[in-house]
Amino acid sequence: MEELFINNMNTKQLSEIYDGWKNLVFPSPEVELEAKRRIEICVTCEKFRKNKSCAICGCYMPAKVRSTKSVCPIEKWVIKAC
Ligand code: SF4
Repeated sequence: MEELFINNMNTKQLSEIYDGWKNLVFPSPEVELEAKRRIEICVTCEKFRKNKSCAICGCYMPAKVRSTKSVCPIEKWVIKAC
């Protein structure tokens, strides 16, 4: 089942997941600032689950908010222009 899930992901999705987890493990001030802005929106969202995942995309949000390439699936937050 997990193998099928991974096979159905495209390169863009895998790149976003990698980016988020990389930035979670190796934080930078710029990414942390944007992650704080994003997670503050998520924690007020009805789709934010107790296990810190999103009910729509299924992503673990502490990692996803640190993916500079990712967006909220219902556009509550988007990629911030520099
Ligand atoms: S990513 Fe969007 S839909 Fe998911 S919990 Fe965050 S704000 Fe809600």
